[in-house]
Amino acid sequence: MSDTVAKERRVRVRFAPSPTGPLHIGGVRTALYNYLFARQHDGDFIFRIEDTDTNRFVPGAEDYIIEAFRWLGITFDEGVSFGGKYGPYRQSERREIYRRHVDALLDAGKAYIAFDTPDELEKRRAEIPNFQYDATTRLSMRNSLTMPADEVRALIGGGIQYVVRFLIEPGREVVVDDLIRGRVVINSSILDDKVLFKSADELPTYHLANIVDDHLMEVTHVIRGEEWLPSAPLHVLLYEAFGWQDTMPRFAHLPLLLKPEGNGKLSKRDGDRLGFPVFPLEWHDPKTGEVSSGYREKDYLPDAVLNFLALLGWNPGDDTEIMSLDRMVSLFNLEKCSKAGARFNYQKLSWFNHEYILRKDDSEVAELFRPVLERNGVTETPERIEKAVSLVKSRVNFIHELWDNSYYLFRAPDGYDDKSLKKWWKEDAPKTTAELCGFLETQDDFNAETLEPKVMDWIASKEYPVGKVMNAFRVTLVGAAMGPQIFAITEFIGKEETLRRARRALEVLS
Ligand code: GLU
Repeated sequence: MSDTVAKERRVRVRFAPSPTGPLHIGGVRTALYNYLFARQHDGDFIFRIEDTDTNRFVPGAEDYIIEAFRWLGITFDEGVSFGGKYGPYRQSERREIYRRHVDALLDAGKAYIAFDTPDELEKRRAEIPNFQYDATTRLSMRNSLTMPADEVRALIGGGIQYVVRFLIEPGREVVVDDLIRGRVVINSSILDDKVLFKSADELPTYHLANIVDDHLMEVTHVIRGEEWLPSAPLHVLLYEAFGWQDTMPRFAHLPLLLKPEGNGKLSKRDGDRLGFPVFPLEWHDPKTGEVSSGYREKDYLPDAVLNFLALLGWNPGDDTEIMSLDRMVSLFNLEKCSKAGARFNYQKLSWFNHEYILRKDDSEVAELFRPVLERNGVTETPERIEKAVSLVKSRVNFIHELWDNSYYLFRAPDGYDDKSLKKWWKEDAPKTTAELCGFLETQDDFNAETLEPKVMDWIASKEYPVGKVMNAFRVTLVGAAMGPQIFAITEFIGKEETLRRARRALEVLS
């Protein structure tokens, strides 16, 4: 596989969310691609929490993210809650490390201290159109480049707040060699002197912490969403400033997830508008109390969700759609990911869910169905649930739909559907049903294969129209003209219950 992976380094990738809320489904896709890549190369997959932006911290978000991956079956080798020898993996616990690295840049003259207050910066922005803190402006600002060293020291000693800014040399070509996008070249003059550290909370910004950690954690590939591509040139320059360019990770920026209609970026509003979740699990916002739906609670199967997501931005090069996680691991190819955004075709996900239910063993589906039955007051043996599942699972997209398609196997109908009655409960229905009951009374073996030919012979001997007789009979057992093969139903509920239901219908409907 070309030069995606340098021979001598063990592949190490990371998923590094900021705990600012629930994990968006796009983040799940990013994590999945990292996972597939790590497994494919027998590498390590790291879970890092990037929580240096204290203003945006949301309690519960970290646990939510961990629980989401547990549900999905995406596993990490090290990181927050998983341990490992590169820890701590929560950035708020790595202050010392960042401080050291910020000081190293300051000492080397690659960063400087700036005292400009938010008001002063605002004023500048008002004065200068498209103001940027960069080579063209930095020498007219209040910073360690324009102020004597002892004044800078005195200000800091006096407790004045400052930031550390990255000193970007203008006029340089910065190359981001992206595994998906190819060579992206920009001129360093368009970049501003990004803030790397803030004295106010003694914390680094995302950029500094991200680069330092990727380096120290020996990350070899940074696979992340396209929204981070604009930060990549700055990151390349930071690697250089630290002298780490030889072990700089390879970048791969994944395509955007687009609205189902294809115009613009997928948002939570699209989910609300069209009725699909954009989060893996239900999320209860701790501030507003707002509840957002999740794929788990909406009854999607985790492997169907992963399969669907895997194909948003990549495909195995043929028509293969259904793939186990292991299969995806062997087929995945980072360099074959598309540059173009991927439409979030949520209807397709229902199809995947259906296919996954079909492909699962009946016993496994039965286990998933059991809680639904219990909620409806039904307790049954595993064997019987399995049998019921085998009769109706081809009809459903979701596990909970099994109930609507099989409740009559577990309890007598409590009414009869009007439309079905109109169609099938004609004048002679009571007579044929009563006679059929009489015949069934004489039968002891309700096994479908045995009973069916006998009933058919009986109907033929009477010269009754099969459809009419059997559909009327079906309505008495099911309550509507629906369900699987009628003799599968009579076998399932048994002789006694069959006769009880048919006779009860005769009473109620006459
Ligand atoms: N903390 C960033 C995020 O929330 C990480 C971006 C990256 O992977 O570099 O996605």
